[in-house]
Amino acid sequence: MSSGTLVICGHGMVAQRLLEHLCEGGHPFSRVVVLGAESEPAYNRVLLSSVLAGDATLDQLRLRDDAWFDANGVERYYGDPVTTIDRTYQQIITAAGRELAYDTLVLATGARPAPLGIPGDDLEGVLTFRDLRDTHQLIELSQRHGRAVVIGGGFLGLEAAEGLRCRGMAVTVLHRNPHLLNRQLDTTGSKLLAASLMQRGLSIRTGVRPCALLGKRRVRAVQLDDSNLVSTDLVITAAGITPNAGLAITAGLDCGRGIRVSRQLRTSDPAIFALGECCEIDGQTFGLVDPGYEQARVLAQVLKGSDQGAVFRSTTQPTRLKISGIPIFSCGQTRPDENTESIVWQDHGQNRYCRLLLRDGRLVGSVLFGETRDGPWYAEQIHKGNDLTPWRATLAFGRDYCEQAA
Ligand SMILES: Cc1cc2nc3c(=O)[nH]c(=O)nc-3n(C[C@H](O)[C@H](O)[C@H](O)COP(=O)(O)OP(=O)(O)OC[C@H]3O[C@@H](n4cnc5c(N)ncnc54)[C@H](O)[C@@H]3O)c2cc1C
Repeated sequence: MSSGTLVICGHGMVAQRLLEHLCEGGHPFSRVVVLGAESEPAYNRVLLSSVLAGDATLDQLRLRDDAWFDANGVERYYGDPVTTIDRTYQQIITAAGRELAYDTLVLATGARPAPLGIPGDDLEGVLTFRDLRDTHQLIELSQRHGRAVVIGGGFLGLEAAEGLRCRGMAVTVLHRNPHLLNRQLDTTGSKLLAASLMQRGLSIRTGVRPCALLGKRRVRAVQLDDSNLVSTDLVITAAGITPNAGLAITAGLDCGRGIRVSRQLRTSDPAIFALGECCEIDGQTFGLVDPGYEQARVLAQVLKGSDQGAVFRSTTQPTRLKISGIPIFSCGQTRPDENTESIVWQDHGQNRYCRLLLRDGRLVGSVLFGETRDGPWYAEQIHKGNDLTPWRATLAFGRDYCEQAA
């Protein structure tokens, strides 16, 4: 079991979940300190899309108030990023020069938008969508400009695009892959999503690659590799994320794309742990909040000593998203191959779609669009790996039909 001072570097959604688990039923530390680079305590980052679209207020982002931290004895410092980890003296140093000794250090520094790496990506008007500051800036600029280009048709790019459209901007989404949200959806699902978004007024161009951002001081246009130009006032880059591992790299911790940790979230230094979007486990990094929450649960058990055998298992994590109000769910394999058969059900009237992928009678993947209530049940079937042949005729209609038919 750990003891002494626990220092948590980064106060985002996953660090807060760790604190919740640690404070539940008491923890072994004499002092718990959390340091955040942003100027406020952890908030619900997922809701930033709703704030941008004008559907949520800043108050709704709050996860815990000061009273909760005070009652649980959590010391906190904001707006002061950790700049150095001194592993020899087991202390961290912040940008403001604060020095803090630790017995156990947890790195929960998250990730940042991946740079485009093309000429012009440093022009004025080229923005990201990651935190509250970005969100305020986008809202403010949407009131002064008419056109925006979003680079990236993953969930973040689509949320940014839809938010700016709701603010009255004419928005074009550029996506490298021929299909939107290609990690989570199959071809039909992507097409349905594109059609719904275009119906709302977004302009979508897939299978295109921006090769330069043009303008003297401010961005004026995006140059595509097919020689076309898209004129714009703003560019929002949402083409993937990069784990914030710089601090760990400088401290000499083993890092790949992220900070390499064991399944117990331990780095190459036994006194230092990492979790959330900054970490890498078995070569895998993470871009959604649920795996981070599971890591927080495991790490709390390890630190409390309540279950020394606790390990993070990167099982097939379901993805549940709401792209501008359209529910989407996927789990496991999303595209058919020569070893799978598909069961497809589509309701054109209600814009609902379901594809189930079976291998040897067992469910290996599901994609749901428009209606996702049965998603967790399909995920359970994927994890259990049961032979579903007896339910085949009713499988696409969900749990209730299958159980009635049984
Ligand atoms: C707009 C938006 C919408 C999203 N929607 C969804 C969704 O619908 N579903 C979903 O699953 N996921 C969604 N995500 C992703 C989700 O928010 C992340 O997976 C989650 O926030 C990761 O948590 P984290 O604690 O690892 O990192 P973060 O929440 O990014 O927190 C890390 C914190 O550490 C701070 N930090 C970094 N470096 C330092 C340093 N040196 N010193 C001190 N502090 C530091 C950062 O400033 C940040 O505050 C969304 C993300 C965004 C931006």
